[in-house]
Amino acid sequence: MDSVNGSSGTAGTSGTHDSQSASLGAQSTPTQAETQEQDLREALAENPQAVAALSALTANTHYAQLSVEQQVQALDAFNAAPNLATATYLQGVAEQTLNPQATPTSLTPDAGTLTLDGQTYSIRNGNLIGADGQVAGTIRNDGQVQLNNETTTRSVYDDINTRVQLRETNAAQELQDLVNLHAADPNARLDNANINREMARLATDVISRARMEGMDMRVVSDFRSVEEQNALFAQGRTAPGRVVTNATGGSSWHNYGLAVDVAFNNANGQPSWPENANWDRYGEIAVQRGLEWGGNWRGINDRPHIEYHPGLGAGEARTMLPAYRQGGLDQVWNNLGLGGR
Ligand SMILES: [Zn+2]
Repeated sequence: MDSVNGSSGTAGTSGTHDSQSASLGAQSTPTQAETQEQDLREALAENPQAVAALSALTANTHYAQLSVEQQVQALDAFNAAPNLATATYLQGVAEQTLNPQATPTSLTPDAGTLTLDGQTYSIRNGNLIGADGQVAGTIRNDGQVQLNNETTTRSVYDDINTRVQLRETNAAQELQDLVNLHAADPNARLDNANINREMARLATDVISRARMEGMDMRVVSDFRSVEEQNALFAQGRTAPGRVVTNATGGSSWHNYGLAVDVAFNNANGQPSWPENANWDRYGEIAVQRGLEWGGNWRGINDRPHIEYHPGLGAGEARTMLPAYRQGGLDQVWNNLGLGGR
């Protein structure tokens, strides 16, 4: 049998392979960080953008030199906002951890824009520049902002209408987007009084999580009356256009304020429905929060659509019609055990 020290020249026999495996046994047990990384990869599998950001972090030489405990901390922080900007920030933290004298430029964005609470700032090397040209605060690549008059930081991901574009100079000396998020509900559709509050809260939560993962999503439709639903059903049947719904008036959860449609923003912040977007991940996030996703339907595959009707199936919306005729939306929500407006 080949000896282990001959492995460089004579590897290839099963004997050599076995003895090497045995001697590497301790290393082949995954560390806590490796296990956590694998779990994250599985959780984010439907979002290739987020997985690529995770790979960028864990392949970083500075990250590899951290202790397991420090790697676990980095992965926890990444999980809070698994996008390229956060990964870039954590690479900088790793570099600084190993070399406290280092001042990594990846901690703060080189350029970009931020609109927060109605104020728009341009970003220059981590500084927020107000309309008057003065520095109004700072921003980091993990999305933490601190305005000059505030004593604590806050996250740019906490408000789905915050406009965030964080840019970093890449190896080719070009500015590259790390994240680019437009307002997610510019028409305040989730504030519509005909949308159930629980539905609005869940939709906000879904969009918020998608944005943290770098997906620039937005609400495109909300409540639809029974009459509007009948008009939509006619489209492609007795009226011009293509068929967009199989639901007649009263048989869509949109009619009861318990469904919304969410699409993506394009580069100009306009609604778009790209084929190659991460629809599956959006659906996964929604289902994890107890919503039903139209992308799981046979027949008309309605990927933008999410709805909420605990205890009832997607096809049972019509059973709500008598309650609606009797007491309106409040009666429907009451029957479903949902809170009011
Ligand atoms: Zn819909």
